[in-house]
Amino acid sequence: MKSIDDLAALRSWRSACDAGQRIGFVPTMGALHEGHRSLIRAARRDCDCVVVSVFVNPTQFAPGEDLDRYPRNRAGDERILADEGVDIAWFAQESDLYPEPPRVQIEVPTLTRGILCGRTRPDHFAGVALIVSKLFHCVGPDRAYFGRKDFQQLVVVQTLARDLNFPVEIVPCPIVRETDGLALSSRNVGLSPQGRASALALSRGLSTATASYRAGEKRASILLSEAERVLREAAGVELEYLELVCPRTLERVDVATDEAVLAVAARVDGVRLIDNTVLGEDS
Ligand code: AMP
Repeated sequence: MKSIDDLAALRSWRSACDAGQRIGFVPTMGALHEGHRSLIRAARRDCDCVVVSVFVNPTQFAPGEDLDRYPRNRAGDERILADEGVDIAWFAQESDLYPEPPRVQIEVPTLTRGILCGRTRPDHFAGVALIVSKLFHCVGPDRAYFGRKDFQQLVVVQTLARDLNFPVEIVPCPIVRETDGLALSSRNVGLSPQGRASALALSRGLSTATASYRAGEKRASILLSEAERVLREAAGVELEYLELVCPRTLERVDVATDEAVLAVAARVDGVRLIDNTVLGEDS
């Protein structure tokens, strides 16, 4: 594995790649876990060369959010990346990606304004769209791997890639969970033992609604209230949103279908957690 910090070094590696080589790319913010590993493995299976970027992107955090507290662990990340047989580990530098404050803005307003995470994090997805665009320009991947765990982000990135004609295929990857159901997240390290137990209410609430859907309940209002009851019963879970949405438009639906996505965001111990499930799938 080659570890690269400088954008100039990344560019010279990229320009030396053979035209026929299929480049797979996994963008991350580091503090890597099994969820990231699953994306890397998917890229490893499909591609000749796998690039993973590690960069805690400041433009997707609002003032007062957890940018400073976000976990960072370069040595651990390098071990995991080498273990997964990654070719290029790019520890991107802020001085390369944001040599000055960015003036360009990229937005997908119909998928973000007032929608799901966009309601409490109004500038978050513009930061995501900007950094993903920059990373795509720098890496020039054929395929890029994104987790369904960040479902709204995945839909935004798919739209961004299409609308801006990036010659990249976006590959969605399933949510990786702990055996008890908790979706893996770099932020989980911020949970106390009691908080971790309470955080299980997110996946439990989703499973409760999914079971009810499979037993025949199609009314979104009932499914949502069943999931909400589970979330309200758990100590210390501050619910931010719980919605059943169309997977393409992210608009709320009144009648549940197999493709509908039940999405939740909540705070536990001050840690913001998100999770989701497709009603007709096991996830
Ligand atoms: P992050 O480092 O949190 O920005 O995540 C980098 C990528 O890993 C994103 O595409 C995430 O959706 C994905 N990811 C994070 N957690 C999981 C998980 N539990 N399962 C699958 N993918 C994940």
